[in-house]
Amino acid sequence: MRRSGETSIFTEMTELAHRTGAVNLGQGVPDLDSPPALLAGVAEAVLAGRNQYPPAAGHPALRAAVAEHQRRHYGIELDPASQVLVTTGATEALVSAVLALTGPGDEILTFDPCYDAYPADARLSGATLVPVPLAVERDKDDENGNGAGGGAGFAVDVAALARAITPRSRLLLLNSPHNPTGKVFTPEELARIAELCVAHDLTVVTDEVYEHLVYGEARHVPIATLPGMAERTLTVSSAGKTFSVTGWKVGWISGPAELVAAVASVKQWLTYASGTPYQEAIAAALGTVDEWAAELRGVLAEGRDLLAAGLTEAGLTPFRADAGYFLQADVRPWGFTDGLALCRQLPQLAGVVAIPTRVFQQGEDVMPWLVRFSFCRRHEALREAATRLARLGQGR
Ligand SMILES: *Cc1c(COP(=O)(O)O)cnc(C)c1O
Repeated sequence: MRRSGETSIFTEMTELAHRTGAVNLGQGVPDLDSPPALLAGVAEAVLAGRNQYPPAAGHPALRAAVAEHQRRHYGIELDPASQVLVTTGATEALVSAVLALTGPGDEILTFDPCYDAYPADARLSGATLVPVPLAVERDKDDENGNGAGGGAGFAVDVAALARAITPRSRLLLLNSPHNPTGKVFTPEELARIAELCVAHDLTVVTDEVYEHLVYGEARHVPIATLPGMAERTLTVSSAGKTFSVTGWKVGWISGPAELVAAVASVKQWLTYASGTPYQEAIAAALGTVDEWAAELRGVLAEGRDLLAAGLTEAGLTPFRADAGYFLQADVRPWGFTDGLALCRQLPQLAGVVAIPTRVFQQGEDVMPWLVRFSFCRRHEALREAATRLARLGQGR
C-alpha cells in the first residue's frame, strides 16, 4: 500500500505550536538534562577517532552492558554474544522483529490505543494488526482523583485478549510501561497474558523503552521473567527515554538466540549498524543507570503532578499515569466530544498544544474525547501550560 504526502497529526500540531507560540505538550520529545558523563563519553569517542562501523550486532561493550543490566535489574541471564542485538533505536528493533517473525496472513495482537509504529510495522510486513482495547477502570484504593496516583486507569481485558486470538495469531506486541496511556501492566495482568501466550504458542515482542520511568508504587515487571516466557519473548529497550537522548537512536533487543538471529538477519539490511560513539558511551552509562534514573523519575513525576494540577483546576480529571511521558484527560467537561476538534482549537483557546489520543486508536474509536498531554518538559514550561489551562477552566 502506498502512503504518501499525508501530514501527520504531530507535524500539524508542531506547526500550530510554532505559529501560535503555544506551549507544545504534543510530541514526546523531552527537553530534560542527560548525564554529563554520557555526553562527554560521546565527544571523547568521536575525538579519539572511533567513528567507523561497529559490528553489525552492536558494540561488544554495549551488548555486555545490556546483558548485565537485564541480570542486575530483573535476574534475566543473557549471553551477550548471541542473545543481545543493538539496533538503531527501539524503532528498528521493533520493525526488524515484526518483519522477521510475521508476514501476510499472520495476525499481530496489540493493546489499543498503541504506539504509532506498531500499525506501520504490521503494514510493512503484510501482517494484520489486531487491536485489543484496554479497558477503563477506577482505582479502588485511591479515590482522591488527583490524576497522579489516583483517578481512573487503564486495565487489561483478559477475556477480550482471549477472544482476539485465532489460529493465525503469531505475535503479541506488548508495551509496558505503555505509551500513550502511562499504564504499567500489573504482575497479575502479565501472568494472565503469559498463560494465553503459552497456551496458544505466541511469540511476544515487548517494548519496554519506559522501563526506568515508573513513578510511585508501580513496578515494572518484564514479561520475559514469567514462567514459560523467556523462550518466547524478545525484549526491546532503548537509551532514548532512559537518558533523555531521543536523537541518538540507540536501542537493543534481547531474547532466545534463534529469535535474535532472525531479527539480526533483517536488521543487517535495514541499517547494518550505526552510532559507534553513542553505543560506546551508553555502554558505560548503563552500568550506573540506577542513580541517574532515580533523579529523572523525580523530575518527571513532579512535572506530571504540575500538569495534573493545571488540568484539574481547568475542570478535567486526568487519568492516572504511573509511567512514561504522558497524561490523558477526558475533555468532555470543556464541551468537546472530539479530542481532535479540541486539539485544533486549543492553541487559540489556551495557548497549549496537545495530541488527540484517538490518533493512537487502531480499533473502534471508543474514547474520542481523550487527549494526551506530555509532561517530559522543563517545569517552567509545565507551570506555564498549567496556568494557561487553569485560566481556560475559569473562562467556562
Ligand atoms: C519513543 C518510543 C519508541 C522509539 O524508541 P527509539 O529508541 O527512539 O527508536 C518505541 N516505543 C515506544 C512506546 C516509544 O514511546
